Amino acid sequence: MSAFVPCSARNCEAGGTSGCNYIDRRQRRCGTAWCADHHVRIAGFDYCRRHAGVIRALGEQLPAGLPELNNRAASLAAYLGDELNGRVVNVLGRAVASNSEASLVNHPVRLVKTPGGRERRWQRSWNVVDNTGVVSRVVIEVDEADDTVVLTSVGSSRIGRGTPPWIARREGEETDPERRAAFLEAIGRSIEMVLTRPEMAPTRI
Ligand SMILES: [Zn+2]
Ligand SMILES: [Zn+2]
Repeated sequence: MSAFVPCSARNCEAGGTSGCNYIDRRQRRCGTAWCADHHVRIAGFDYCRRHAGVIRALGEQLPAGLPELNNRAASLAAYLGDELNGRVVNVLGRAVASNSEASLVNHPVRLVKTPGGRERRWQRSWNVVDNTGVVSRVVIEVDEADDTVVLTSVGSSRIGRGTPPWIARREGEETDPERRAAFLEAIGRSIEMVLTRPEMAPTRI
């Protein structure tokens, strides 16, 4: 008889009958066990909630391997990008509306490497492009080497650098929704301020 393996979800007493199938770029498997209510199935494979988020965000584009098991860079960049998407599209949409040659290119989260390839950074970006190239740009990035820090840029200027309160306080996903909303609001507002007041020097947060 095999030993009973409990589901890894907090306060769940059911059996962990599904293992997370996530395998990172160092060939390590997550392997946490989950019950039928707490696993997430994507394209026929079971994952834990956290790694399901990474798989969903990255889709098929996995040129350099999945982030390491405990690295939150990709999932954090994906989460913030989704949360800020409406707001960024709205403000960049005005730039598009005023330029008949322009269009908005909304890039999903992707891996970018610094010159030399030493750093791996997960980036969500929105580019307004016209026939002369990129005319306006918003970028949210999280570096794998420091996956607690969110970097926000508008154009070529870094306008923000901050650690989400739910990471700083090690609360996991059960963070206070008001603090979460306030963090997102601060990033959204700083992006809007820079984009709507081009004469203003980039703000430092
Ligand atoms: Zn469970
Ligand atoms: Zn997992």
